Amino acid sequence: MVKEIIRDVNLLQIKAEDAVKEDIDGVAQDLLDTLQANSHRCIGMAANMIGIAKAIIAVDTQAEARAMAANAAQGAGMAGLAATAGNGEGLLLMLNPRYTKKSPRTYSVKEGCLSLSGERVAERHQWVEVIYRDMQWQKRKQRFAGLTAEIIQHEMDHLAGILI
Ligand SMILES: [Zn+2]
Repeated sequence: MVKEIIRDVNLLQIKAEDAVKEDIDGVAQDLLDTLQANSHRCIGMAANMIGIAKAIIAVDTQAEARAMAANAAQGAGMAGLAATAGNGEGLLLMLNPRYTKKSPRTYSVKEGCLSLSGERVAERHQWVEVIYRDMQWQKRKQRFAGLTAEIIQHEMDHLAGILI
C-alpha cells in the first residue's frame, strides 16, 4: 500500500528497531509500493519515512544507470534522472542491513531527501559491504559502489535517526 511521506523531523529522528519476518508482507511491501509511486522524484526510502521505525530500506539500484543514460542523452544531470523515472524494476529491499566493511576513502556530495527541503552536503564512502535479509528472509552479503552505495548510506542513516 502506498503510504504518505513523513516530514516531521522529530519522528524521523527515532531510531529504527530490528525488523522481523512478519514485516515482509506489511511494512516492507508498503515501502516498495511507496518508493515505486514516488520513483519520479525518489531513488531510495527508509521505513521511518513512511512512519514505521523498523530497520527496512528500499533502494533503486537502476538509478545510476538511468542518471548516466540521461546525462549522455541531454547533459541534464538530476533533472534528466527525474525525467527518466524508474519503472519499479531494480528496486532492492533490505531488512536489518548492517555494514561489514566500508571503503577507507570518502567523498562529499550534495543530497536531497524526500522528507526534507533543499539539498545538503553529506560525506559518503566510495563503497560499502552490507549484510541484510531479503524479501525471502534469506541472509545476504553484498558490496555496493557508486550511486547505489550512496543511496544505501543515506537510507541506513535514516534508520539510525540521522538526517542529511
Ligand atoms: Zn532521506
